[in-house]
Amino acid sequence: MSEREAAPAPVDICGLSLSELTALCTEAGLAPYRSRQLFEWVQRRAGAGWAEAGNISGADKARLAEGLSWGLPVPLEERVSADGTRKFLFQLADGETIETVLLDYRKDRSRSHATLCLSVQVGCALGCPFCATGRAGWRRNLSPGEITGQLLAVTARMRRENASFHVGNLVFMGMGEPFYNMNAFLQAVRILNDARGQNIGARRMTVSTAGVVPGILRLAAEAPQIGLAVSLHAGTDELRDVLVPLNRRYPLARLMEACREYVLRTGRRITFEMALTEESATETQARAVAALLRGLPAHVNLIPVNIVAGSAARRPTGARVAAFRRLLTERGLAVTIREERGADIEAACGQLRQSGAKRKGAEAICHLPSSDKTSQE
Ligand code: SF4
Repeated sequence: MSEREAAPAPVDICGLSLSELTALCTEAGLAPYRSRQLFEWVQRRAGAGWAEAGNISGADKARLAEGLSWGLPVPLEERVSADGTRKFLFQLADGETIETVLLDYRKDRSRSHATLCLSVQVGCALGCPFCATGRAGWRRNLSPGEITGQLLAVTARMRRENASFHVGNLVFMGMGEPFYNMNAFLQAVRILNDARGQNIGARRMTVSTAGVVPGILRLAAEAPQIGLAVSLHAGTDELRDVLVPLNRRYPLARLMEACREYVLRTGRRITFEMALTEESATETQARAVAALLRGLPAHVNLIPVNIVAGSAARRPTGARVAAFRRLLTERGLAVTIREERGADIEAACGQLRQSGAKRKGAEAICHLPSSDKTSQE
């Protein structure tokens, strides 16, 4: 290599599947069983670096470390809500920061049923007006290792309190649009699904999209077991153009066509998220939503938004939300009113942001770290 040629950047071990790791280990002259041991250290035991892989010799580690980097996102801040929700601010290798939210963690369980909400991008390009992440803009996509790394870092942290801590459910609803980082998202899913690693069932994973039509169809083709949630928020293009600007690219007619196609191909029900403000929780919108979803296996989550500082939006009254729900249920839809968690630590619905864009009072109405404590019609 000439002096002017840069050495290839080390590959992040947290973003490698077992077969990819095996290929690299073989190339380095290691026996295949070494790669299985290593994968277990990285993915199952959530090891934080080479020093922890006790059964790999120092010489082998040194050989592997030439081409492989191993480090977890660094926790800069951890905030715990009064309801137990935890929000982690992580720093990545290049200094960028992301947030990850842990919900429903119960210490008294030997095997936790915790749900982890993962980010997929640093920021987001979609610019939904009330979303703190969107307001900060898009900076870059996360790599597969940075996506799995959030789970591994949270697991390593929580196992200091409870050795049997395990994430049971994953929601890809944190910062960013997963379908605009599709390859990394799918790679992270494959790794976290691996029985020799975290072994999180695909049916225990849900991905939320603002409505990226090609992504919905690709999910149906490549990962049909993963649950799909669509941030609908409005039943008319006029209102959705404002609340979800991506609607101008994929208007409701195209979005619903893709949803019908998804159902046809997968046989799965779709969750539709409806953040409600005093302005959007109207009879007109409820009727429009019911018409859009007619005949589709669908579940609607209603999320009354929090008071939005710096925005004209207002939280709807309980009576208005109840009327909205009634209009939908009367038309045969399954409806849940979601109880938000973690709002006091800005871990709720769309409140995630980078550290540099923090604490300006913006709250959000879209992507949804949520509770399983819901009231259901
Ligand atoms: S709500 Fe979701 S899609 Fe919209 S800007 Fe925020 S992170 Fe992006």
